[in-house]
Amino acid sequence: MFSTVFFEGKFVPSYEAKISVATHAFLYGTSVFEGIRAYWSDTDKKLYIFRPLEHFQRLKLSSKILRMELKRSPEELVELCRQLLSFNNPKEDTYIRPIVYKADLRIGPSLLNSKDEFCMFAVPMGDYIDTTKGISVAVSSWRRVEDNAIPARAKIAGSYVNTALAKTDALLSNFADAIVLDESGHVAEGSAMNLIMVRNGKLITSPITENILEGITRATILELAVKELGLQVEERSIDRTELYIADEMFFCGTGAQVSPITSVDYYNVGNGQIGPITSQLKNLYFDLVRNRLPQYVHWCVEV
Ligand code: PMP
Repeated sequence: MFSTVFFEGKFVPSYEAKISVATHAFLYGTSVFEGIRAYWSDTDKKLYIFRPLEHFQRLKLSSKILRMELKRSPEELVELCRQLLSFNNPKEDTYIRPIVYKADLRIGPSLLNSKDEFCMFAVPMGDYIDTTKGISVAVSSWRRVEDNAIPARAKIAGSYVNTALAKTDALLSNFADAIVLDESGHVAEGSAMNLIMVRNGKLITSPITENILEGITRATILELAVKELGLQVEERSIDRTELYIADEMFFCGTGAQVSPITSVDYYNVGNGQIGPITSQLKNLYFDLVRNRLPQYVHWCVEV
């Protein structure tokens, strides 16, 4: 972790940013968070935060679902994030974790009449998952949390137990990650990333009503596909067996970036190599986040 963090209204050294064992969020998983990346550009010698406004807007919506009040506006939070990074001054790719949490020290899970706090820290981060060789994944035996249980569209800490179970099972079985189905048996997403497949030249991804996080990278990739590559995009339910006959497939997310998938449940995706559309989108994405695409500079916020 970088040495300066934002905690209880001010910037403090990381060793001072401590919460009590009786904190509501620790006891019941009642916090919401974001994962944001900032990319170092060797060419510009600058750090760019990728789409921070959209992340803080989503944080606000996640907070609303947990009946929490995020006092600062998304615009103010972008500024705070810039300050956090300028204090720490990283010259490498960085991951930022803002958290809104139920801060009361008490027993009892109700979301009412509780103080909400906000904190934010940053860590150095390279690839979270391989983006170069193509990964082998499996369909998980765990099901995605349902909207009427713990809503996946809110980034709620407690729901990441679901992620942790699926991810851990995949790793123990020597897969890089898992594809998680929802209770209806349709494809939801990866353990902590969205999934996009290609069939007959068209991008297909699960709709936002299929128990997924409404991913910012997913939206970015779909926009790039349409605007830059002129591809068609379809948001619709995906059957499990479509995964086995897809031409191309990849995970996308802030952490995962664009991670090509070359096999699912030991079925080759396409010919088992990274597909051409996936490669083009991946290259575009990495150009984009390092602020090399002039038409998207507004998405890269300079520190
Ligand atoms: N789904 C889940 C469950 C995630 O944790 C993430 C990572 N935030 C994503 C999808 C991808 O979302 P984004 O592109 O906004 O990071």
